[in-house]
Amino acid sequence: MYLNIGVKNPPSQHDRKQIGILTICVVICTKVADQNGFHSTEYEITAQLSKAERQMETFYDFKQQFDWNTVRDSIMSKTQNDVIAALSKQKRTLEDFKALVSPEADSQLEEMAKISHYLTRKRFGNTIQFYVPLYLSNACTNQCVYCGFNTSNKVLRVTLSPTQVLDEVKAIKDLGFGHILLVTGEHPAQSGFEYMNEIVALIRPHFHSVSAEIAPMQVNEYVGLIHEGLDAVYIYQETYHEANYSTYHPGGKKADFRYRLETPDRLGMAGIYKTGLGFLVGLEDWRTEAFFAALHIHYLEKKYWRTRYSLSLPRLRPYAGQFAPKHPATDRNLLQLILAFRIYNEELELSLSTRETPTFRNNIFSLGITLMSAGSKTTPGGYANKINDLEQFSVSDDRTAQEVKDMVKSHGYEVVWKDWDQCITNQKHQPYAE
Ligand code: SF4
Repeated sequence: MYLNIGVKNPPSQHDRKQIGILTICVVICTKVADQNGFHSTEYEITAQLSKAERQMETFYDFKQQFDWNTVRDSIMSKTQNDVIAALSKQKRTLEDFKALVSPEADSQLEEMAKISHYLTRKRFGNTIQFYVPLYLSNACTNQCVYCGFNTSNKVLRVTLSPTQVLDEVKAIKDLGFGHILLVTGEHPAQSGFEYMNEIVALIRPHFHSVSAEIAPMQVNEYVGLIHEGLDAVYIYQETYHEANYSTYHPGGKKADFRYRLETPDRLGMAGIYKTGLGFLVGLEDWRTEAFFAALHIHYLEKKYWRTRYSLSLPRLRPYAGQFAPKHPATDRNLLQLILAFRIYNEELELSLSTRETPTFRNNIFSLGITLMSAGSKTTPGGYANKINDLEQFSVSDDRTAQEVKDMVKSHGYEVVWKDWDQCITNQKHQPYAE
Protein backbone atom coordinates (compact mmCIF):
# COMPACT_ATOMS: atom_id res chain seq x y z
CA MET A 1 0.00 0.00 0.00
CA TYR A 2 1.46 3.37 -0.96
CA LEU A 3 -0.07 6.55 0.34
CA ASN A 4 0.34 9.94 -1.19
CA ILE A 5 -0.94 12.78 1.03
CA GLY A 6 -0.67 16.44 0.22
CA VAL A 7 1.02 18.26 3.11
CA LYS A 8 1.59 22.00 3.27
CA ASN A 9 4.99 23.33 4.28
CA PRO A 10 5.00 23.98 7.21
CA PRO A 11 2.34 21.35 8.02
CA SER A 12 -0.90 22.52 9.66
CA GLN A 13 -2.06 21.11 13.01
CA HIS A 14 -4.48 18.82 11.10
CA ASP A 15 -1.63 17.55 8.87
CA ARG A 16 0.58 16.89 11.88
CA LYS A 17 -2.19 14.76 13.42
CA GLN A 18 -2.54 12.78 10.15
CA ILE A 19 1.22 12.22 9.96
CA GLY A 20 1.24 11.06 13.58
CA ILE A 21 -1.53 8.51 12.92
CA LEU A 22 0.21 7.25 9.78
CA THR A 23 3.53 6.92 11.58
CA ILE A 24 1.90 4.79 14.30
CA CYS A 25 0.27 2.61 11.58
CA VAL A 26 3.60 2.11 9.79
CA VAL A 27 5.36 1.15 13.04
CA ILE A 28 2.62 -1.38 13.90
CA CYS A 29 2.62 -2.83 10.36
CA THR A 30 6.41 -3.15 10.38
CA LYS A 31 6.37 -4.97 13.73
CA VAL A 32 3.66 -7.36 12.53
CA ALA A 33 5.60 -7.96 9.31
CA ASP A 34 8.83 -8.65 11.16
CA GLN A 35 7.02 -11.10 13.43
CA ASN A 36 5.79 -12.91 10.33
CA GLY A 37 9.24 -13.30 8.85
CA PHE A 38 9.38 -10.27 6.55
CA HIS A 39 12.53 -8.26 6.97
CA SER A 40 12.19 -4.48 6.92
CA THR A 41 14.92 -4.27 4.26
CA GLU A 42 12.63 -6.28 2.03
CA TYR A 43 9.98 -3.63 2.47
CA GLU A 44 12.50 -0.96 1.64
CA ILE A 45 13.44 -2.85 -1.53
CA THR A 46 9.79 -3.28 -2.50
CA ALA A 47 9.10 0.40 -1.82
CA GLN A 48 12.10 1.39 -3.91
CA LEU A 49 10.94 -0.91 -6.69
CA SER A 50 7.53 0.67 -6.72
CA LYS A 51 9.16 4.07 -7.09
CA ALA A 52 11.31 2.74 -9.95
CA GLU A 53 8.24 1.32 -11.66
CA ARG A 54 6.36 4.58 -11.41
CA GLN A 55 9.20 6.53 -12.92
CA MET A 56 9.97 3.86 -15.56
CA GLU A 57 13.54 3.60 -14.33
CA THR A 58 15.67 0.71 -15.47
CA PHE A 59 17.54 -1.77 -13.31
CA TYR A 60 20.65 0.37 -13.73
CA ASP A 61 18.95 3.23 -11.87
CA PHE A 62 17.42 0.89 -9.33
CA LYS A 63 20.77 -0.79 -8.60
CA GLN A 64 22.41 2.51 -7.64
CA GLN A 65 20.86 2.16 -4.19
CA PHE A 66 22.94 -0.93 -3.43
CA ASP A 67 26.64 -0.58 -2.73
CA TRP A 68 28.79 -3.60 -3.60
CA ASN A 69 30.96 -3.52 -0.46
CA THR A 70 27.99 -2.96 1.85
CA VAL A 71 26.18 -5.94 0.34
CA ARG A 72 29.31 -8.10 0.60
CA ASP A 73 29.83 -7.13 4.26
CA SER A 74 26.18 -7.88 4.98
CA ILE A 75 26.51 -11.35 3.44
CA MET A 76 29.72 -12.05 5.35
CA SER A 77 28.10 -11.04 8.63
CA LYS A 78 25.26 -13.57 8.40
CA THR A 79 25.18 -16.10 11.23
CA GLN A 80 24.13 -19.74 11.64
CA ASN A 81 20.89 -18.48 13.16
CA ASP A 82 20.22 -16.38 10.04
CA VAL A 83 20.75 -19.46 7.86
CA ILE A 84 18.51 -21.66 10.02
CA ALA A 85 15.84 -18.96 10.08
CA ALA A 86 15.98 -18.67 6.29
CA LEU A 87 15.64 -22.42 5.86
CA SER A 88 12.68 -22.64 8.22
CA LYS A 89 10.52 -20.16 6.28
CA GLN A 90 7.96 -20.90 3.61
CA LYS A 91 8.81 -17.79 1.60
CA ARG A 92 12.31 -16.31 1.64
CA THR A 93 13.36 -12.68 1.28
CA LEU A 94 16.48 -11.18 -0.26
CA GLU A 95 17.92 -10.92 3.25
CA ASP A 96 17.36 -14.67 3.60
CA PHE A 97 19.07 -15.16 0.25
CA LYS A 98 22.14 -13.38 1.60
CA ALA A 99 22.22 -15.89 4.45
CA LEU A 100 21.91 -18.81 2.02
CA VAL A 101 24.95 -17.69 -0.01
CA SER A 102 26.99 -16.74 3.06
CA PRO A 103 29.96 -18.79 4.32
CA GLU A 104 27.81 -19.87 7.30
CA ALA A 105 25.46 -21.78 4.98
CA ASP A 106 28.23 -24.14 3.90
CA SER A 107 27.62 -26.37 6.93
CA GLN A 108 23.92 -26.57 6.01
CA LEU A 109 24.37 -27.81 2.45
CA GLU A 110 22.78 -31.17 3.14
CA GLU A 111 19.62 -29.58 4.52
CA MET A 112 19.61 -27.07 1.68
CA ALA A 113 19.92 -29.90 -0.86
CA LYS A 114 16.88 -31.66 0.63
CA ILE A 115 14.75 -28.51 0.47
CA SER A 116 15.96 -27.58 -3.00
CA HIS A 117 15.30 -31.08 -4.36
CA TYR A 118 11.79 -31.05 -2.89
CA LEU A 119 10.94 -27.58 -4.24
CA THR A 120 12.26 -28.37 -7.70
CA ARG A 121 10.31 -31.60 -8.01
CA LYS A 122 7.17 -29.91 -6.65
CA ARG A 123 7.31 -27.19 -9.30
CA PHE A 124 8.93 -28.96 -12.28
CA GLY A 125 8.21 -32.65 -11.69
CA ASN A 126 10.67 -35.44 -12.50
CA THR A 127 11.78 -33.81 -15.72
CA ILE A 128 14.89 -32.17 -17.11
CA GLN A 129 14.63 -30.06 -20.21
CA PHE A 130 17.40 -30.53 -22.81
CA TYR A 131 18.70 -27.89 -25.18
CA VAL A 132 21.60 -27.66 -27.54
CA PRO A 133 23.54 -24.57 -28.65
CA LEU A 134 23.94 -23.84 -32.36
CA TYR A 135 26.96 -21.57 -32.82
CA LEU A 136 26.21 -19.40 -35.84
CA SER A 137 29.24 -17.12 -35.76
CA ASN A 138 32.44 -16.59 -33.82
CA ALA A 139 33.02 -13.12 -35.28
CA CYS A 140 33.16 -10.58 -32.46
CA THR A 141 34.14 -6.95 -32.00
CA ASN A 142 34.45 -7.19 -28.23
CA GLN A 143 37.53 -7.73 -26.10
CA CYS A 144 36.35 -9.86 -23.17
CA VAL A 145 39.62 -10.93 -21.60
CA TYR A 146 38.30 -14.39 -20.64
CA CYS A 147 36.99 -15.48 -24.05
CA GLY A 148 38.49 -17.31 -27.01
CA PHE A 149 36.33 -15.30 -29.44
CA ASN A 150 37.93 -12.03 -28.20
CA THR A 151 38.53 -9.85 -31.27
CA SER A 152 42.26 -9.70 -30.46
CA ASN A 153 42.66 -13.48 -30.73
CA LYS A 154 44.03 -14.58 -34.08
CA VAL A 155 41.55 -17.33 -34.84
CA LEU A 156 39.65 -18.10 -38.02
CA ARG A 157 36.31 -16.24 -38.00
CA VAL A 158 33.31 -18.04 -39.42
CA THR A 159 29.70 -16.94 -39.86
CA LEU A 160 27.43 -19.67 -41.17
CA SER A 161 25.46 -19.02 -44.35
CA PRO A 162 21.75 -19.94 -44.43
CA THR A 163 22.66 -23.16 -46.26
CA GLN A 164 25.25 -24.08 -43.64
CA VAL A 165 22.75 -23.29 -40.89
CA LEU A 166 20.27 -25.72 -42.42
CA ASP A 167 23.01 -28.40 -42.48
CA GLU A 168 23.50 -27.81 -38.75
CA VAL A 169 19.74 -27.89 -38.17
CA LYS A 170 19.48 -31.28 -39.86
CA ALA A 171 22.36 -32.71 -37.78
CA ILE A 172 20.81 -31.34 -34.57
CA LYS A 173 17.32 -32.60 -35.41
CA ASP A 174 18.81 -36.07 -35.97
CA LEU A 175 19.98 -35.94 -32.33
CA GLY A 176 16.37 -35.48 -31.20
CA PHE A 177 16.35 -31.86 -30.04
CA GLY A 178 13.20 -29.75 -30.38
CA HIS A 179 14.62 -26.72 -28.55
CA ILE A 180 17.53 -24.77 -30.01
CA LEU A 181 19.76 -22.04 -28.58
CA LEU A 182 21.31 -19.81 -31.26
CA VAL A 183 24.69 -18.40 -30.24
CA THR A 184 26.83 -15.74 -31.88
CA GLY A 185 29.72 -13.50 -30.98
CA GLU A 186 28.85 -9.82 -30.99
CA HIS A 187 29.53 -8.44 -34.45
CA PRO A 188 26.86 -5.99 -35.69
CA ALA A 189 27.83 -6.32 -39.36
CA GLN A 190 28.06 -10.12 -39.45
CA SER A 191 25.56 -11.35 -36.87
CA GLY A 192 23.45 -8.29 -36.08
CA PHE A 193 19.69 -7.82 -36.36
CA GLU A 194 19.40 -8.40 -40.14
CA TYR A 195 21.27 -11.68 -39.97
CA MET A 196 19.42 -12.92 -36.89
CA ASN A 197 16.07 -11.97 -38.36
CA GLU A 198 16.79 -14.10 -41.42
CA ILE A 199 18.10 -17.05 -39.41
CA VAL A 200 15.24 -17.10 -36.86
CA ALA A 201 12.69 -17.08 -39.70
CA LEU A 202 14.65 -19.81 -41.48
CA ILE A 203 14.88 -22.27 -38.61
CA ARG A 204 11.66 -21.56 -36.70
CA PRO A 205 9.63 -24.17 -38.64
CA HIS A 206 12.13 -26.84 -37.54
CA PHE A 207 11.92 -26.33 -33.76
CA HIS A 208 9.30 -26.10 -31.04
CA SER A 209 11.12 -23.20 -29.44
CA VAL A 210 14.02 -20.95 -30.41
CA SER A 211 16.27 -19.15 -27.92
CA ALA A 212 19.23 -16.91 -28.58
CA GLU A 213 22.41 -15.77 -26.88
CA ILE A 214 23.36 -12.84 -29.09
CA ALA A 215 24.49 -9.22 -28.96
CA PRO A 216 22.15 -6.90 -27.01
CA MET A 217 19.63 -5.13 -29.24
CA GLN A 218 17.09 -2.33 -29.18
CA VAL A 219 13.46 -2.86 -28.19
CA ASN A 220 12.15 -2.60 -31.76
CA GLU A 221 14.70 -5.15 -32.95
CA TYR A 222 13.65 -7.59 -30.25
CA VAL A 223 10.03 -7.04 -31.25
CA GLY A 224 11.01 -7.97 -34.82
CA LEU A 225 12.80 -11.16 -33.74
CA ILE A 226 9.89 -12.16 -31.49
CA HIS A 227 7.60 -11.67 -34.48
CA GLU A 228 9.77 -14.12 -36.46
CA GLY A 229 9.48 -16.70 -33.67
CA LEU A 230 12.18 -16.00 -31.08
CA ASP A 231 10.97 -17.18 -27.66
CA ALA A 232 13.84 -16.47 -25.30
CA VAL A 233 17.00 -14.41 -25.03
CA TYR A 234 19.89 -15.17 -22.69
CA ILE A 235 21.98 -12.17 -21.75
CA TYR A 236 24.72 -12.56 -19.18
CA GLN A 237 25.95 -9.56 -17.29
CA GLU A 238 29.23 -11.40 -16.57
CA THR A 239 29.76 -9.20 -13.47
CA TYR A 240 27.56 -6.75 -11.58
CA HIS A 241 30.67 -5.02 -10.22
CA GLU A 242 30.48 -1.79 -12.21
CA ALA A 243 33.85 -0.40 -11.11
CA ASN A 244 35.72 -3.53 -12.21
CA TYR A 245 33.60 -4.30 -15.28
CA SER A 246 35.91 -2.44 -17.66
CA THR A 247 38.89 -4.55 -16.47
CA TYR A 248 37.28 -7.56 -18.12
CA HIS A 249 35.62 -5.71 -21.00
CA PRO A 250 38.13 -3.11 -22.18
CA GLY A 251 36.78 -2.58 -25.69
CA GLY A 252 33.86 -2.95 -28.06
CA LYS A 253 30.18 -2.29 -27.42
CA LYS A 254 30.20 -4.69 -24.50
CA ALA A 255 32.39 -2.24 -22.59
CA ASP A 256 29.19 -0.23 -21.99
CA PHE A 257 28.14 -1.62 -18.60
CA ARG A 258 24.87 0.26 -18.50
CA TYR A 259 23.68 -0.73 -21.97
CA ARG A 260 24.28 -4.38 -21.16
CA LEU A 261 22.65 -4.18 -17.73
CA GLU A 262 19.54 -2.59 -19.22
CA THR A 263 19.11 -5.30 -21.86
CA PRO A 264 16.64 -7.39 -19.80
CA ASP A 265 14.58 -4.21 -19.39
CA ARG A 266 14.47 -3.81 -23.17
CA LEU A 267 13.52 -7.48 -23.54
CA GLY A 268 10.75 -7.00 -21.02
CA MET A 269 9.46 -3.97 -22.89
CA ALA A 270 9.54 -5.98 -26.14
CA GLY A 271 7.38 -8.69 -24.51
CA ILE A 272 9.80 -11.61 -24.71
CA TYR A 273 8.48 -14.94 -23.45
CA LYS A 274 11.59 -15.77 -21.44
CA THR A 275 14.76 -13.94 -20.38
CA GLY A 276 17.85 -15.75 -19.16
CA LEU A 277 20.32 -14.02 -16.87
CA GLY A 278 23.63 -15.00 -15.39
CA PHE A 279 27.06 -13.97 -14.28
CA LEU A 280 30.44 -15.49 -14.91
CA VAL A 281 31.37 -17.29 -11.72
CA GLY A 282 34.97 -16.47 -10.90
CA LEU A 283 35.37 -12.86 -12.07
CA GLU A 284 34.36 -11.19 -8.78
CA ASP A 285 33.16 -12.38 -5.36
CA TRP A 286 30.50 -14.90 -6.35
CA ARG A 287 28.43 -14.44 -3.19
CA THR A 288 27.95 -10.73 -3.88
CA GLU A 289 27.37 -11.38 -7.59
CA ALA A 290 24.65 -13.84 -6.57
CA PHE A 291 22.86 -11.18 -4.51
CA PHE A 292 22.82 -8.73 -7.42
CA ALA A 293 21.58 -11.43 -9.80
CA ALA A 294 18.79 -12.28 -7.33
CA LEU A 295 17.99 -8.57 -6.99
CA HIS A 296 17.91 -8.23 -10.78
CA ILE A 297 15.45 -11.11 -11.14
CA HIS A 298 13.36 -9.76 -8.25
CA TYR A 299 13.14 -6.41 -10.03
CA LEU A 300 12.29 -7.96 -13.41
CA GLU A 301 9.67 -10.31 -12.02
CA LYS A 302 7.85 -7.41 -10.44
CA LYS A 303 8.12 -5.09 -13.41
CA TYR A 304 7.83 -7.44 -16.45
CA TRP A 305 5.70 -10.05 -14.75
CA ARG A 306 4.51 -11.79 -17.91
CA THR A 307 8.06 -12.85 -18.82
CA ARG A 308 9.57 -16.06 -17.38
CA TYR A 309 13.11 -16.03 -16.02
CA SER A 310 16.00 -18.37 -16.18
CA LEU A 311 19.45 -18.29 -14.58
CA SER A 312 22.77 -19.78 -15.63
CA LEU A 313 25.90 -19.89 -13.53
CA PRO A 314 28.75 -20.52 -15.98
CA ARG A 315 32.12 -21.05 -14.35
CA LEU A 316 35.25 -19.80 -16.04
CA ARG A 317 36.86 -22.50 -18.17
CA PRO A 318 40.29 -22.72 -19.83
CA TYR A 319 40.48 -21.32 -23.39
CA ALA A 320 43.08 -20.51 -26.05
CA GLY A 321 44.48 -17.54 -24.14
CA GLN A 322 45.55 -16.62 -20.63
CA PHE A 323 43.06 -15.74 -17.94
CA ALA A 324 43.03 -16.94 -14.37
CA PRO A 325 39.85 -16.20 -12.37
CA LYS A 326 40.51 -14.09 -9.25
CA HIS A 327 37.60 -15.58 -7.33
CA PRO A 328 37.34 -19.23 -8.40
CA ALA A 329 34.41 -21.25 -7.10
CA THR A 330 34.79 -24.89 -6.05
CA ASP A 331 32.21 -27.54 -6.92
CA ARG A 332 30.86 -27.14 -3.39
CA ASN A 333 30.56 -23.36 -3.85
CA LEU A 334 28.68 -23.77 -7.13
CA LEU A 335 26.35 -26.29 -5.52
CA GLN A 336 25.63 -23.80 -2.72
CA LEU A 337 24.74 -21.15 -5.31
CA ILE A 338 22.34 -23.48 -7.14
CA LEU A 339 20.64 -24.52 -3.90
CA ALA A 340 20.38 -20.94 -2.65
CA PHE A 341 18.73 -19.72 -5.84
CA ARG A 342 16.25 -22.60 -5.88
CA ILE A 343 15.28 -22.19 -2.22
CA TYR A 344 14.88 -18.43 -2.70
CA ASN A 345 12.95 -18.63 -5.97
CA GLU A 346 10.86 -21.73 -6.66
CA GLU A 347 9.78 -20.59 -10.12
CA LEU A 348 13.19 -19.85 -11.53
CA GLU A 349 14.61 -22.06 -14.29
CA LEU A 350 18.15 -23.09 -13.40
CA SER A 351 20.44 -24.16 -16.20
CA LEU A 352 23.63 -26.24 -16.20
CA SER A 353 25.89 -26.36 -19.24
CA THR A 354 28.52 -28.75 -20.56
CA ARG A 355 31.20 -26.48 -19.13
CA GLU A 356 30.83 -28.65 -16.03
CA THR A 357 32.27 -32.15 -15.72
CA PRO A 358 30.15 -35.30 -16.15
CA THR A 359 30.70 -36.23 -12.50
CA PHE A 360 29.51 -32.87 -11.23
CA ARG A 361 26.51 -32.83 -13.57
CA ASN A 362 25.53 -36.40 -12.68
CA ASN A 363 25.65 -35.65 -8.96
CA ILE A 364 23.90 -32.32 -8.76
CA PHE A 365 21.38 -32.09 -11.62
CA SER A 366 18.57 -33.50 -9.47
CA LEU A 367 19.10 -30.98 -6.66
CA GLY A 368 17.74 -27.87 -8.36
CA ILE A 369 18.53 -27.86 -12.07
CA THR A 370 15.70 -27.78 -14.62
CA LEU A 371 17.56 -27.24 -17.90
CA MET A 372 20.70 -28.93 -19.26
CA SER A 373 22.64 -28.72 -22.49
CA ALA A 374 23.90 -32.01 -23.87
CA GLY A 375 26.09 -33.08 -26.77
CA SER A 376 27.15 -29.42 -27.21
CA LYS A 377 29.54 -28.16 -29.86
CA THR A 378 30.79 -24.64 -29.23
CA THR A 379 32.09 -23.92 -32.71
CA PRO A 380 30.24 -22.79 -35.87
CA GLY A 381 29.69 -25.87 -38.04
CA GLY A 382 30.42 -28.23 -35.13
CA TYR A 383 27.53 -30.64 -35.73
CA ALA A 384 27.40 -31.17 -39.48
CA ASN A 385 31.10 -30.69 -40.25
CA LYS A 386 32.58 -31.81 -36.92
CA ILE A 387 34.79 -28.70 -36.70
CA ASN A 388 36.30 -28.44 -33.21
CA ASP A 389 39.26 -26.06 -33.44
CA LEU A 390 37.25 -22.80 -33.31
CA GLU A 391 35.58 -23.40 -29.99
CA GLN A 392 34.70 -20.58 -27.57
CA PHE A 393 35.49 -22.65 -24.47
CA SER A 394 36.43 -26.23 -23.71
CA VAL A 395 33.46 -28.50 -23.16
CA SER A 396 34.02 -30.61 -20.04
CA ASP A 397 31.12 -32.98 -20.56
CA ASP A 398 31.65 -34.33 -24.07
CA ARG A 399 29.17 -37.19 -23.77
CA THR A 400 26.61 -37.51 -26.54
CA ALA A 401 23.05 -36.30 -25.93
CA GLN A 402 21.95 -39.96 -25.84
CA GLU A 403 24.52 -40.77 -23.14
CA VAL A 404 23.39 -37.83 -20.99
CA LYS A 405 19.77 -38.84 -21.53
CA ASP A 406 20.56 -42.40 -20.34
CA MET A 407 22.21 -40.98 -17.22
CA VAL A 408 19.20 -38.75 -16.48
CA LYS A 409 16.78 -41.63 -16.98
CA SER A 410 18.81 -43.88 -14.72
CA HIS A 411 18.01 -41.42 -11.91
CA GLY A 412 14.27 -41.79 -12.59
CA TYR A 413 13.87 -38.57 -14.59
CA GLU A 414 12.28 -37.94 -17.96
CA VAL A 415 14.04 -35.83 -20.57
CA VAL A 416 12.00 -33.09 -22.21
CA TRP A 417 13.41 -32.25 -25.63
CA LYS A 418 11.33 -29.12 -26.15
CA ASP A 419 9.85 -26.24 -24.19
CA TRP A 420 6.48 -27.59 -23.14
CA ASP A 421 5.20 -24.32 -21.73
CA GLN A 422 5.35 -22.69 -25.12
CA CYS A 423 3.48 -25.62 -26.72
CA ILE A 424 0.78 -25.60 -24.07
CA THR A 425 0.18 -21.87 -23.88
CA ASN A 426 0.79 -21.32 -27.60
CA GLN A 427 0.88 -17.63 -26.97
CA LYS A 428 3.25 -14.81 -27.66
CA HIS A 429 3.38 -11.82 -25.40
CA GLN A 430 2.60 -8.38 -26.64
CA PRO A 431 5.10 -5.59 -26.05
CA TYR A 432 4.72 -3.81 -22.71
CA ALA A 433 4.01 -0.11 -22.50
CA GLU A 434 6.08 2.09 -24.83
S1 SF4 B 1 32.25 -13.39 -24.46
FE1 SF4 B 1 30.94 -12.97 -26.20
S2 SF4 B 1 31.14 -10.78 -26.52
FE2 SF4 B 1 32.90 -11.40 -25.27
S3 SF4 B 1 34.56 -11.81 -26.74
FE3 SF4 B 1 33.47 -13.74 -26.33
S4 SF4 B 1 31.97 -13.91 -27.95
FE4 SF4 B 1 32.64 -11.78 -27.88
